[in-house]
Amino acid sequence: MIYLDYAATTPVHPRVLNAMLPYFAETFGNPSSVHRYGQQAEAAVDSARENVASVLNCRPDEIIFTSCGSESDNLALRGAAFAMRQKTGAKWILTSKAEHHAVSRTAEQLGKLYGFQVEWLELDEYGMVTPEAVEKAICGGTGLVSVMYANNEIGTINPIKAIAEVCHRQGVLFHTDAVQAAAYLPVDVQSLGVDLLSLGGHKFYGPKGVGALYVRKGTPLVPAQTGGGQEFGLRAGTQNVPYIVGFAEALRLTAEERGQRTAALKPLRDHIIGTLLEGIPDSRLSGHPESRLPNHASFAFKDVDGNLLLTLLDAAGFACSSGSACKTGNPEPSDVLSSLGLPREWALGSLRVTLGSSTTPAHIDAFLKVLPTLVEKVRAIHRR
Ligand SMILES: *Cc1c(COP(=O)(O)O)cnc(C)c1O
Repeated sequence: MIYLDYAATTPVHPRVLNAMLPYFAETFGNPSSVHRYGQQAEAAVDSARENVASVLNCRPDEIIFTSCGSESDNLALRGAAFAMRQKTGAKWILTSKAEHHAVSRTAEQLGKLYGFQVEWLELDEYGMVTPEAVEKAICGGTGLVSVMYANNEIGTINPIKAIAEVCHRQGVLFHTDAVQAAAYLPVDVQSLGVDLLSLGGHKFYGPKGVGALYVRKGTPLVPAQTGGGQEFGLRAGTQNVPYIVGFAEALRLTAEERGQRTAALKPLRDHIIGTLLEGIPDSRLSGHPESRLPNHASFAFKDVDGNLLLTLLDAAGFACSSGSACKTGNPEPSDVLSSLGLPREWALGSLRVTLGSSTTPAHIDAFLKVLPTLVEKVRAIHRR
């Protein structure tokens, strides 16, 4: 079986696992306890926080550990939306339909249940949000803009630095979901200029179930989860010490190896894109041709049932994914693909191929050999 779905999740790096192990049973204290067990656990969390802060080029007390990337997005959106409304009366939230549901569904709920106004930013044909689109959409009542750094479904990288500048000229807070981007793109929050940035451990060879939110000093934020005073009072709950240690080690390794990982995968990605667009009739790349993640290839094939294609790929030994909501019976194109303006007969035939640590050129050759035949097979079924 060949794994080509690294955008969905990555395996835990062996060095990350080793770093985590002592904190399950040996050094098991509660970081909030006063005694030495607690002190040791607290020291581990502090050191993890310092390591994360050093990769992000920020202060340790600007890092809030959470339970996942989705929680980081929720804390950022809910926390900043409520705080800005309280502080300035601003109740408009700007975001886009290409966002991960952790952002778009949260914005939707803030609109439906909590009295905020949500405006959906215009996207170009590659699913990109331009600084001009943000500039045009910001109004006097805008409190928060959220635009993802890189898209998980179509790989498009957004011009975050330029968008942050537009927001700051207008006195608006800017959040970016960097959960998918962090494995391959620099996450220096000073050069990006963001106020809030979400990360999730399992997209860069860390464990699932742990994330972090960068909160620039002075950014107004209401805690989304109340209780004890952990994480500077912004996220209650006893810290998950082993996972936080693993998260920090995975991010440190990623920052160290980012260049090598990119250099290894980008030529393979380009080989996949070139070969498939040339070899499969009625195929197109989804997302941006240049401004895209180096491990990410995504396609739309006309008149192809994307879910059936995934099933046949799985049977042939390849684990890939599609952009569509993977439900049999009533398949609907995903919000992201629909937002690109792809016609339905294209949007339903989506395929995402994402590479990572165990991908080899031989795997890609094997994949490229079977895919055109499988697409043809699915089309033949469609025609019947
Ligand atoms: C995976 C992902 C998330 C959610 O992260 P979890 O840790 O799985 O909750 C959010 N945003 C993007 C862009 C992602 O790729």
